[in-house]
Amino acid sequence: MNIIQAIDINYNYPDGTQALKNVNFKVKKGKIVALLGPNGAGKSTLFLHFNGILRPSSGEIKVENQTLDYKKDGLMRVRQKVGIVFQNPDDQLFAPTVVEDVAFGPLNLGLDSEEVDKRVSSALEKVGMVGYENKPPHHLSGGQKKRVAIAGILAMHPDIMVLDEPTSGLDPKGASQILKLLYHLNQEGMTIIISTHDVDLVPLYAEEIFIISGGKIIKQGTAHQVFEDV
Ligand code: ADP
Ligand code: ADP
Repeated sequence: MNIIQAIDINYNYPDGTQALKNVNFKVKKGKIVALLGPNGAGKSTLFLHFNGILRPSSGEIKVENQTLDYKKDGLMRVRQKVGIVFQNPDDQLFAPTVVEDVAFGPLNLGLDSEEVDKRVSSALEKVGMVGYENKPPHHLSGGQKKRVAIAGILAMHPDIMVLDEPTSGLDPKGASQILKLLYHLNQEGMTIIISTHDVDLVPLYAEEIFIISGGKIIKQGTAHQVFEDV
């Protein structure tokens, strides 16, 4: 089953920038997929469509085979299924401590405090940030901030995790920790979609790669297929 699908979508920003042009993109449940392309190619714009932050100018988005419904209830439903980790963790981390940050989403879902605590400790354990509960997020390193941002999304129990440039700005060790973490989450059944402009690391993990350039998907396939004649 395709868990996420963009069908022939176009997107124009209000200033007229055509950021996506007839984009078709689909991901099967349980896969780990990379969207590869240079800065300005349209990666963030496409990702913001997956939970309805942006609405296509034409075409449609389907999540779990249902066309996205942009009314309030529909958006709430899709945002529980699709968790987006933004490129800059400072856009996502704003609570005074790590534990409050990770608890923010589940508290917003109206879960009781026992369930919230369970989800927060399990998420911090998965991302390797046990022991940092009471630290202010802005004192952490870039890689640690990313892992806390990922924990915040994990605590929402999404079916699909979408990560915009999860390794950008990190040193090789930090980047490889993030990719290993994503690999493990995928092994546990999470569908993972990553964007990157870095050709080096991601093909090692991604089962399928889409290449985007100038708002168009120009190639798609396994690492072997997309790189064979580059
Ligand atoms: P990427 O994530 O691949 O770097 P983006 O999706 O951010 O690419 O950008 C795609 C194109 O849309 C670029 O030309 C960018 O300048 C433009 N763009 C992005 N955000 C906006 C915006 N809010 N208003 C107008 N143009 C934008
Ligand atoms: P990314 O590569 O993740 O898209 P950018 O640095 O391109 O990051 O964009 C950072 C922010 O600026 C995003 O919120 C994006 O929507 C916005 N942005 C990018 N290009 C433009 C643009 N041409 N006009 C207005 N906003 C833009």
